[in-house]
Amino acid sequence: MSDEVDVPESHPRYHSLLTRHRIEAGVETGITSQQGLIAQGRGEAFDYLLGEETIPSADRAARTAAAALLRADKPVLSVNGNVAALVPEETVALANAVDADIEVNLFNRTEKRIERIADHLGAHGAEEVKGLTADARIPGIDHERAKVDSDGIYSADVVVVPLEDGDRAEALGEMDKTEIVIDLNPLSRSPQVASIPIIDNVVRAIPNITEHAHDLKSRSEPGLHSIIEEFDADTALREAERTIRESDN
Ligand code: ATP
Repeated sequence: MSDEVDVPESHPRYHSLLTRHRIEAGVETGITSQQGLIAQGRGEAFDYLLGEETIPSADRAARTAAAALLRADKPVLSVNGNVAALVPEETVALANAVDADIEVNLFNRTEKRIERIADHLGAHGAEEVKGLTADARIPGIDHERAKVDSDGIYSADVVVVPLEDGDRAEALGEMDKTEIVIDLNPLSRSPQVASIPIIDNVVRAIPNITEHAHDLKSRSEPGLHSIIEEFDADTALREAERTIRESDN
């Protein structure tokens, strides 16, 4: 997908432009919604202020997320149109590293777009993609937005929801799951209700969790447990907000 971008790698905003181009391409191929473009714009502004890098507190959150996923009985990675356009291969790699299911979960849900995303993930190595059965509902959310698979997100004990809408993030949190949210805005509701908020760009956060999962693979159960216990979500959010407020970008 990156082949069709006409930006030299030496360009100071190369990564940002490449990311933007992938979202545009996602909209063109029907993977990403028009609203996904707006989400991308919001994200870019925060990423600019974060220095377009993984800050230490986000790295600690990614390590904690890896520990929680390795420890999970039933981990699920939720994929929307932006995630599918930006990190399809990296999502499959993370699913393989922690033995998680992948489920397409859209804010603006259409069967056609779910199928397109599932095919796109399949072309990037996913063996099975959930999301089309939609035989369970997240309690407290209106009908269309509540749809999930009963053997996927509904019954997951640990769920990764990048760029999730605030209402759904809150409702999932109330289902007593460990919720890992990836979002560039620490003030957004989704990271605020997450058990493990990762304030980072999904293009950096997903491969970073995978790397930590590989490093932690041989850790004992108590070792993983203590990594999770030591993590404090409020501190992670505060540190990200401080970085943004003190940014001289
Ligand atoms: P909420 O209802 O939770 O307050 P919101 O209305 O701010 O959310 P949207 O407008 O749907 O949410 O924006 C999507 C969110 O996704 C924004 O918080 C934005 O920072 C984040 N985002 C966009 N692109 C990325 C990305 N590549 N990586 C991580 N987060 C991103």
